[in-house]
Amino acid sequence: MSSAPGACCGGNAETLVFTCAGAAYSGQVANRSGVQLAEQGAGALFCIAAVAAGIPGKLDRARQAARRVAIDGCEDHCVRKVLEKAGLTADVHVVLTDMDIEKKPAQPNLITDAKRVVDAVKQRLGVAGRAGCCG
Ligand code: SF4
Repeated sequence: MSSAPGACCGGNAETLVFTCAGAAYSGQVANRSGVQLAEQGAGALFCIAAVAAGIPGKLDRARQAARRVAIDGCEDHCVRKVLEKAGLTADVHVVLTDMDIEKKPAQPNLITDAKRVVDAVKQRLGVAGRAGCCG
């Protein structure tokens, strides 16, 4: 039996990861961390823009997710607010400026900062130290 992308332990219930992908540095770190979480099997990266646009199939999949992860670049919380407008909540919500990842840092370090976010999300999901949810 095959599992849906981001599904856990052979089931079809997905963990979906939404990132703001904002223009600010922290928004780009948010997106990079979402890509890495997907690469590591912690969840499936999903389009927050499709949720904002109300694309029916995408909304259905977002509603059916077992867990939703929202990664926001700053205190404006765009991802969380888009989910809430669609009647959805984030099971894990990470705000990068709360982790001292600035919107316009003097010395940006995308690799280090994205790893910090990945580690924080995996910790909150209870999959820290594993390659994926089942690893
Ligand atoms: S949360 Fe902040 S960085 Fe992300 S899209 Fe919104 S304003 Fe931009």
